[in-house]
Amino acid sequence: MTTTTTKDITTKLLVIGGGPGGYVAAIRAGQLGIPTVLVEGERLGGTCLTIGCIPSKALIHAAEVFEQARHNAAGSALGVSAGEPTLDLAQTVRWKDGIVQRLTGGVGGLLRKAGVQVLKGWAQIEDGKTVTVQVGEGAEAVRVRCEHLLLATGSEPVALSSMPFGGAIWSSTDALSPDMLPRRLVVVGAGYIGLELGIAYRKLGVEVTVVEAAQRVLPSYDEELTQPVLESLKKSGVVLHLGCSVQGWDEGQGVHVRNARADEFALPADRVLVAVGRRPRTTGFGLESLQLDMAGRHVAIDAHCRTSMRGVWAIGDVTGEPMLAHRAMAQGECVAEQIAGHNRRFEPMAIPAVCFTDPEVVVVGKTPAEARAAGLECIDAAFPFAANGRAMTLEATGGFVRVVARKDNHLILGWQAVGQGVAELAAAFGQSIEMGARLEDVAHTIHAHPTLGEAVQEAALRALGHALHI
Ligand code: FAD
Ligand code: NAD
Repeated sequence: MTTTTTKDITTKLLVIGGGPGGYVAAIRAGQLGIPTVLVEGERLGGTCLTIGCIPSKALIHAAEVFEQARHNAAGSALGVSAGEPTLDLAQTVRWKDGIVQRLTGGVGGLLRKAGVQVLKGWAQIEDGKTVTVQVGEGAEAVRVRCEHLLLATGSEPVALSSMPFGGAIWSSTDALSPDMLPRRLVVVGAGYIGLELGIAYRKLGVEVTVVEAAQRVLPSYDEELTQPVLESLKKSGVVLHLGCSVQGWDEGQGVHVRNARADEFALPADRVLVAVGRRPRTTGFGLESLQLDMAGRHVAIDAHCRTSMRGVWAIGDVTGEPMLAHRAMAQGECVAEQIAGHNRRFEPMAIPAVCFTDPEVVVVGKTPAEARAAGLECIDAAFPFAANGRAMTLEATGGFVRVVARKDNHLILGWQAVGQGVAELAAAFGQSIEMGARLEDVAHTIHAHPTLGEAVQEAALRALGHALHI
C-alpha cells in the first residue's frame, strides 16, 4: 500500500497548463517578480510545441522537400534534375522530434530563468484558491494555495462516436508520429488539420481522400481565398467528397460515407485521420466544482480574461475560438501583467489566422463581407502574385493579396492573402491594423524589391486607384 504525504506550498500565481498560454503567462509573471508555480501533466510546450503547430509544420516542410525532389526527378523547367528520392520515415520523425525536444527544453530553461517553479503532474482543483498535484509516480502530493489561479488547460481532439481513435483511426497526434506511410489515407474534415496534414501526406506519396461535411474546403474561410487551395488539391490528386457525412468504419471495406443525396459508399483506407475539430479541456480535474459561467463548452471570460469567479483567470483554447497559439500567448502575457497591477485588457484589433496549406492562406482583420456585414462602407482591392517578379522567380505565381479599407478615411480593416509563403506576410498585415494605418501609409512605404511584400503595397495602391504594376 502506498501512503500519500502532502506538502503545502503557497504562491501568488498558480498556472494550470504549460502550453503557449500557460508558459508565456508564467514567464511574464516571473519577469515581473510574481511568485509563480506552473503545473504541467505532460510536456512543457503543450499541444503547440509537442503535438500541434511545430511538429505539423516540420512534417509539412519535410513533405515539401520530398515532393520537390520527386518533381526534379521528373525533370524541371529550371534545368535541375536529380534521381528518384527515397524517404526514411523514421529519420523524418526523429528530425521532427529533435525540433520538439529543443523547443520544449528551451521553454523549461526560460521558466527557470524567470524563477518559475514547475510541478510535473496533474492538477486537481479543490477550490478557487487550492489545487492538489500528484507529483510523479511516487506518493507525494503537493497542495498549492494561491491568490490567483490561471486556467490554461487547452483542448483535445474531438472523436467521432462511430470511429473512436485507436488502431487505424488516427488523431492528429498519431498522424504526426507515423510508424508507417499508409498507402491510402482517408481524412475526415477539410479544416486546418485535415488539409495541412492531408496535403503533407499526399506530398509523401500517399493516396489521400478527404471527406468534409460542408460543401467546400476550409469552410471557415472566404471562398475566394480557398479557391486556389481547392485547385491545388485537385491538381495534386487529392480526392474530395464534400457535403458528405461519415457513417462508420470497418477494416474490410473502409470508411462508410453518405452523400447529400443519401447514397452510401465505402472508401477503402489503411489509416483514417479524424480532424473534425478540438474541444476545450474542462473536465476531469475538478473544474466543474468551481461552477464557473460557461459559454457553450468553453470557460466564459471577459475582456480581462477573468472568469466569473474572482481571482480565477482563463486563457487559450479552454476559452474557445479562435483556438490559436498566438492568441493563447497574448492572453497569457496580458493576464500576468494585470496580476502585476498593469492596466491591460485583451482587446486586439485583429488576431491573424494562417492555414499552412499549399498554397498558404492568411486572414487578418475583416474580409469585405465581414466589413459590409458590420455596416461599414468599404473598398477592397487585390493584387495577384502573377504580376509580382519575386513570385515568378519562386515559381509561385498563384494567389493574391487583398486589402479592405473604410471608404471614408481609408483606415485599413483587413488583409487576406493566398499564395506560397504568404504566412510571413501576417506580421505586416497585423502591424498595419494594430497601428491604425491607412491605405496611404502602406502605399507610401518603400517595400524592398524583389519581394512578395511588394504585392502588399500594390494592393494598397490599387485600392487607391493607382496600382503601378498591373
Ligand atoms: P495547450 O497547448 O493545449 O496546452 C495545455 C496544457 O495543459 C497541456 O500541455 C496539458 O497537458 C496541460 N494540462 C491540461 N490539464 C491539466 C491538468 N489538470 N494538470 C496539469 N496540466 C494540464 N495554432 C496556431 O496558432 N498555429 C498553428 O500552426 C497550429 N497548428 C496546430 C496543429 C495541430 C495538429 C494542432 C492539434 C493544433 C494546432 N494549433 C495551431 C493550435 C494550438 O496548438 C493551440 O491553439 C495552442 O496549443 C493552445 O494553447 P493553450 O496553452 O491554450 O493549450
Ligand atoms: P477545424 O474546425 O479547422 O475543421 C474541422 C472540419 O471538419 C470542418 O471543416 C468541419 O466542417 C468538418 N467536420 C466536422 N464534423 C465532421 C464530420 N462528422 N464529417 C466530416 N466533416 C466534419 O478543426 P481541426 O482541423 O480539427 O483543427 C482544430 C483546431 O486546431 C482549429 O480550429 C484551429 O483552431 C487549430 N489549428 C490551427 C492551425 C493553424 O493555425 N494553422 C492548424 C491546425 C489546427
